[in-house]
Amino acid sequence: MHDLVIRKGTIVDGTGRERFTGDVAIDDGMIVATGRVAERGKREIDAAGRLVTPGWVDVHTHYDGQVTWDPILAPSSWHGVTTLVMGNCGVGFAPRRPGEENFLIELMEGVEDIPGTALHEGIDWRWESFPEYLDALAAMPRVLDVAAQVPHCALRAYVLGDRAHADEIDADAIAAMARLTEEAMRAGAVGFTTSRTILHRSKHGLVPGTNSTPEELLALGSALGAAGHGVFEMVADLQGQEPDLSWMIDFCRRTGRTITFALAQTPMQPTAWRDTLARVDQLAADGLKIVPQVPTRPTGMLYGLQSSLHPFISHPTYVASLAALPLDERVARLRTADVRARILAEEPGIEHPIARLLMTNWPGIFPLGNPPDYEPTAESSAFAVAAREGRRPEEVVYDWMLERDGRQFMFAPLANYVDTNFDALREMMVHPRSVLGLSDGGAHCGLICDASMPTYLLTHWARDRKRGERIPLEQAVRLQTGNTAAVYGFRDRGTLEVGKKGDVNVIDHDALQLHAPEMVFDLPGGGRRLIQRVDGYRYTVVSGAVTFEDGEPTGAKPGTLVRGHA
Ligand SMILES: [Zn+2]
Repeated sequence: MHDLVIRKGTIVDGTGRERFTGDVAIDDGMIVATGRVAERGKREIDAAGRLVTPGWVDVHTHYDGQVTWDPILAPSSWHGVTTLVMGNCGVGFAPRRPGEENFLIELMEGVEDIPGTALHEGIDWRWESFPEYLDALAAMPRVLDVAAQVPHCALRAYVLGDRAHADEIDADAIAAMARLTEEAMRAGAVGFTTSRTILHRSKHGLVPGTNSTPEELLALGSALGAAGHGVFEMVADLQGQEPDLSWMIDFCRRTGRTITFALAQTPMQPTAWRDTLARVDQLAADGLKIVPQVPTRPTGMLYGLQSSLHPFISHPTYVASLAALPLDERVARLRTADVRARILAEEPGIEHPIARLLMTNWPGIFPLGNPPDYEPTAESSAFAVAAREGRRPEEVVYDWMLERDGRQFMFAPLANYVDTNFDALREMMVHPRSVLGLSDGGAHCGLICDASMPTYLLTHWARDRKRGERIPLEQAVRLQTGNTAAVYGFRDRGTLEVGKKGDVNVIDHDALQLHAPEMVFDLPGGGRRLIQRVDGYRYTVVSGAVTFEDGEPTGAKPGTLVRGHA
């Protein structure tokens, strides 16, 4: 008798092969048979008419703090994620010297918009070194598997103290960081991460290491080579262009390891991504593993009365008499003719040119709606609606903001939406060298909620898209399972094949539906975060144990720490 048999499902196994109808049998957490399984299971799941896929492997999240107090790790776990990788973009909480917790929390708050109070109240700091952090994670039960990467910022703070922000540092400090990185890799870290973008900053300025020299990056990267495993991840303004590309190539040549970086179509360089992909292709022919990381939809800021940004947030009347009110009262006041006229007659008080531009970029602001529309047409932007109706865009947005009793969000894509459609994004997603990522699960709690990106792959890309080509289901599933697992060297998961881990989603594809994001106040200390619910995941299985049934946690906590190894 098997532990679990999932019967008669439409199996999309994560390898890219064509779907087939069959059974999946799991014993001791491992897949032992697929196809026709005669033997009964202690538990049987009827999956007739349902998709049976591997659990999603999400390689780009920021649950580094939440993972220490929350065994559920929603929203990612609600969306079928069974393995997630944390510690991206250079920020995280280990190593950590007693007394410097504040600094690490301020970085996480500044860069990833995770409430500092929640982190202060939630984390109990039972570690100093990175290996101790891994042991602490391994000791905690949770619903899914997690893997951790070494964040450059924390390393710099640990080794350099007050000098963490220095651009150039001495050889001894670099050597000390390289030693700690290698120690962490040998203990089971799955990568090293850094930030090279001016967009990531805290109250102390750009995050430590943003402008670090190629010598420093190569020295830290060499620790991955010495350990014989691990991925180098970074978010960088240059997106794989020179002068970064030279040291990235050096890194790959010297270590044989993979480097992955966030790639996007930007308004400033709307075709640069294509050159990058072509260059990466050439380098791959030489055996270099340079992997652009792309999302399944544009990283989207959600403007609204409950989020941290909307076009009227710095208007004098709003700041002076509305901002501090509870939502319902604010909505009532905003609906009065008097307040409406006053605010619409004012200008934003904010001076910062980029923030001002973002908040008044009317052609790039759309109503998100419920169910949410992440690929809206140009005709539906605030700019276009205003022009059509002979109104000012401010008026249009003001009214949108009050829809759904002030709970409506406006979608303001940050990148990958230059042409007001997903054609460029699709090309990036299906490119053979790229990997899906950037969901940022657990982060940007006040403005962005993209942890549902894996679900979106199945709803929009494999089923609903009407404005252009879709992505075949088999390919879509492989991108979020076999492919993401392979980039991180997780050889034991990512496909439904005999010998792999029993991580499975059973999905009612017809019923799979994202809901509009909502703001909840359930982080430690009442901290707020955006979440997004979903219908259609019938079962999620981790290591053979059912963790979610129709969206509800079963109480099973089979999740473990994934340790990287050579
Ligand atoms: Zn990130």
